[in-house]
Amino acid sequence: MSASPPAAAAKSGDALARRLAKLDIHRQQDLLLHLPLRYEDETRISAIREAREGEPVQVEGEVESCEVVARGRRQLVARVRDDSGVLVARWLNFYPSQQRQMAPGRRVRLFGELRHGFFGAEMVHPRVRNVDAGEPLPEALTPVYPTTAGLAQSALRKLVGRALDAHVEDELLPPQVLHDLRLPTFSAALDALHRPGPQVSVAALEAHEHPAWRRIHFEELLVQQISLRRAYNARRAKRAPALKPRDQLTRKLVDALPFALTGAQRRAVAEIARDLAVPHPMQRLLQGDVGSGKTVVAALAMLQALENGFQAALMAPTEILAEQHWLKLDAWLTPLGLRVEWLAGSRARKEREAAQARLAAGESLLAVGTHALIEDAVTLPRLGLAVVDEQHRFGVRQRLALREKAVGGLNPHMLMMSATPIPRTLAMTHYADLDVSVLDELPPGRTPVATRLVSDARRDEVVARVAAACAEGRQAYWVCPLIEESEALQLKTAEETFERLASELPDLRVGLVHGRLKSAEKSATMAAFAAGEVDLLVATTVIEVGVDVPNASLMVIEHAERFGLAQLHQLRGRVGRGTAESTCVLLFAADQPLSDTARARLKVIYEHTDGFEIAREDLRIRGPGEFVGARQSGVPMLRHADLERDADLVEPARALAERLLADSPQAAERLLQRWLGGREGLLRA
Ligand code: ADP
Ligand code: MG
Repeated sequence: MSASPPAAAAKSGDALARRLAKLDIHRQQDLLLHLPLRYEDETRISAIREAREGEPVQVEGEVESCEVVARGRRQLVARVRDDSGVLVARWLNFYPSQQRQMAPGRRVRLFGELRHGFFGAEMVHPRVRNVDAGEPLPEALTPVYPTTAGLAQSALRKLVGRALDAHVEDELLPPQVLHDLRLPTFSAALDALHRPGPQVSVAALEAHEHPAWRRIHFEELLVQQISLRRAYNARRAKRAPALKPRDQLTRKLVDALPFALTGAQRRAVAEIARDLAVPHPMQRLLQGDVGSGKTVVAALAMLQALENGFQAALMAPTEILAEQHWLKLDAWLTPLGLRVEWLAGSRARKEREAAQARLAAGESLLAVGTHALIEDAVTLPRLGLAVVDEQHRFGVRQRLALREKAVGGLNPHMLMMSATPIPRTLAMTHYADLDVSVLDELPPGRTPVATRLVSDARRDEVVARVAAACAEGRQAYWVCPLIEESEALQLKTAEETFERLASELPDLRVGLVHGRLKSAEKSATMAAFAAGEVDLLVATTVIEVGVDVPNASLMVIEHAERFGLAQLHQLRGRVGRGTAESTCVLLFAADQPLSDTARARLKVIYEHTDGFEIAREDLRIRGPGEFVGARQSGVPMLRHADLERDADLVEPARALAERLLADSPQAAERLLQRWLGGREGLLRA
């Protein structure tokens, strides 16, 4: 217990404090925000004969008899009578104290679910309270709190009650906001939630639809916004090199590209260029659906760093992807007289060391690689811009590590890229500490990918289709069934799939890539596929991200029902990159029924091609917890608010957060204290 322990905790000591800490209750005021899960209505008494079945009710009567019966299993059986009839109460586990409570002649209130059975009315394990005749009923519904072993509801209720009594009105929201959003004050909301009167609808409370809940949801969203905004401001206050657009290298690359930038790319490039020119670190997320052309945007940003004599690095989560980036950048930038260093685990030690030496000496300004970039041996003394592709694949620590490759307290700018579109509400809540550029336009000339759902009973037809496509000079991917539980089994499945297809398609050149292959083999196979020397590439999800072979126009995904939505979308994005009409065949198991979520996912991927739509559906199916799980950062998680239900509160919360930080920083600080108690997340990367 810190500063002000609840009075009771002082006495019963550490044990209570420890149990409360398990509930994340560390201070007296944390009890206020420990909100009920549900309520029990003890404000009414039902007559035994009329009591409704199937819902908790309270009855009151006199104990007629109470005995321990050994009918099969020892149990305590009591008969209780009121004016309307008799009820049998039964306990399979019981204490002597319960026997005393149920002594014949005592007056009791029983609370529980009542059943009208063959032998009359019955209640199993009711809660008992001894009362005197005419004892008044409680005026408020009885809250039921989340609790933990060793902490009884009654004790928790008492503690919360005491905290409520001690609480003085502490309204931190402007009256105008309360008025506009029709929210009760903080105290009124707490009272309504902890001590709702009998006139309140339990259903509305439990469904979180009562205005008191809305107040809590709004305040929670507001605190999240304040916290994210503060983290953002703190980072922006640091110093970074001002990388002015000089239009030298960048212009040369734009002129040399075989295509014109899309409007969306030009917009993103301009937003980034503006950020880089400011002497504070950029924190920008470049979001664009698969194939929207993020790489060239990153390349132009990196060149802006180079034009100013600074280094730039691009980190990607897999070796295949990093190598593709390297090949592309190398092809674009070598003609400009620039050397792109390539760092990956698979490179020969000597070559790697030479590259590291050139980077450390500042002879080379550009580095592309995997996690190898953040190894201790690598320094990028003049790192001005760090780019992280598929940023959600990395943890906070890895992104930080890349930034810290710079020496002398230099804060590089950060550009994060993601092809996993984040639905708007989620972006506003969990990514509000980043600036976002969106590529919402695909390069021209792309043919939309046709998606087919095919039962694997028709696998032969699909194999024939692969043969036909390759006979026409096209290429195809075949994605092996996903086996998440076991890497060994995944490997075996990949090899079997490969062998089977190779024998079924003797005229085709079939290649195989999977995670356990040596890097050199992997990149040799990828290079052969890119060069058109392999017709059919059998692969695990290693090809999920970034791989770019425009001549591949057919993709088959086996056991598509096992994949997640984002995965399916990313995989499908490997085709439809050239001018040929492309198809993605989703094979699903015919011999067993699909689960509801699997069916829902296949329906979504079949009906939608737009990444944002798919992400929104994904959010609906899975909820935000899993969705942002990989972010692994200190973004305060929402305990009560629900992004779908409370979507309309997000924008007002954002606006108010900004206003409070500017005009009433003390109110902002006290809100943070109230909700987070100084445990504000570390929103650093
Ligand atoms: P992603 O956003 O998925 O990372 P890439 O950067 O890999 O996409 O780009 C996909 C493909 O589109 C690459 O072959 C790239 O060279 C090409 N590309 C990028 N921008 C354009 C454009 N404006 N016009 C035509 N092709 C483009
Ligand atoms: Mg990419």
